[in-house]
Amino acid sequence: MRSTCDVLVVGAGPGGAVAALQAVKSSCGTVMLVDKAKFPRFKPCGGGLSPRSIKTLKSLGLWSKIEPRAYPISALRLVSPNGREATLGGPVVGAVMNRYEFDQILVRAAADAGAILEPETKVDALWEENGRVVGVCSSDRRISAKWVVIANGALTAFNEDPRPKKFLHTCLARFENIRFQANTLEMFYDLDLLPHYGWLFPESASMANIGICIDAKQLGERSIRNVFRSFLDCHFGDRLGESRQIGRWYSHPISTTTRIRHESRPGTILVGEANRLTNVATGEGISYAMESGILAVRMIDEISRGITTADQASCAYQARLRKSLEINLIAGDLYCRFGVKALNGVTRLCRSPIVSRLTSQALAGM
Ligand SMILES: Cc1cc2nc3c(=O)[nH]c(=O)nc-3n(C[C@H](O)[C@H](O)[C@H](O)COP(=O)(O)OP(=O)(O)OC[C@H]3O[C@@H](n4cnc5c(N)ncnc54)[C@H](O)[C@@H]3O)c2cc1C
Repeated sequence: MRSTCDVLVVGAGPGGAVAALQAVKSSCGTVMLVDKAKFPRFKPCGGGLSPRSIKTLKSLGLWSKIEPRAYPISALRLVSPNGREATLGGPVVGAVMNRYEFDQILVRAAADAGAILEPETKVDALWEENGRVVGVCSSDRRISAKWVVIANGALTAFNEDPRPKKFLHTCLARFENIRFQANTLEMFYDLDLLPHYGWLFPESASMANIGICIDAKQLGERSIRNVFRSFLDCHFGDRLGESRQIGRWYSHPISTTTRIRHESRPGTILVGEANRLTNVATGEGISYAMESGILAVRMIDEISRGITTADQASCAYQARLRKSLEINLIAGDLYCRFGVKALNGVTRLCRSPIVSRLTSQALAGM
């Protein structure tokens, strides 16, 4: 087992796997990708790949590996708070892929490129010397590194951001032989969940995941599982009877923000949900994780080539994250505050092809 490297990536979700892949491609030296899980592993997630995710996957040369296994999406069934519904179509296309397979493809790509993959390695602490992180500690060893990329998701303990965390609560389950319109996502703006929503995301012609996402305040003292049960009864009562649940119900928080900050210890860079990079309106985080992974490695590469100093790295990276991602996070916040209120009207007007097209573009563009 290796115990020293140049770039150590903690967490092999989309953010970490892409960072490891990019670090190898950018010749950043020896790259290690460690994860507490054994791969392939399931990550509770809708697996929705937005046009933004697909664009990034294409730029990384990974879309050709994903596309044959992903389920294509070309329409959105929207149920507004007053129960009115509309199916929106348009030029925007997305896809859905189970995270068991999706993450495995990304991790495999990083390992095939030359990253050293170390599954079942839980990082318990950062190893610091003279005010700088020089590696990590797991239960049985220390691994030293010039740079530690922290990509261990929503529940990371290595983000130094002093602001209170903002979590969305979720619950999700997968169903086989469930009825849905082919190639169509379903979003339910149920009064119980506003300004967030419940969904059905088809993973194949006969399999879909169904879930809910709700703000902590809106959830209050209720249990997320009870809210999910009511949601299923209300929107899927008849359809569930014909289907078979695969696996159990999963609950997992989504860590989110509108104003991006990068508060990490010297020697570390935070990527993806470890840095709260998700869209508050949609819960989308895969694209932001991958893009921040790319930006983090670009930063490390610039430092090694003397273009940026290590002292400037955190500020410079924060500025780049803001430039690339923040407008979408702000748009998501505004949509939650004001846009959701307009949904009743939108579903009424959606017989107009222009409204239908604009709405689906706006939702996909966040
Ligand atoms: C229910 C739900 C539905 C969602 N649906 C969508 C969707 O449809 N589309 C979308 O774009 N986004 C969705 N998201 C958000 C998306 O899942 C995340 O934003 C995205 O996975 C973040 O990627 P990441 O690489 O930052 O972290 P993660 O994917 O969370 O990966 C983190 C990795 O770190 C590992 N890890 C954790 N702690 C340690 C440790 N101490 N040591 C070593 N390894 C560790 C974990 O095992 C994991 O593999 C959803 C989230 C939830 C909860």
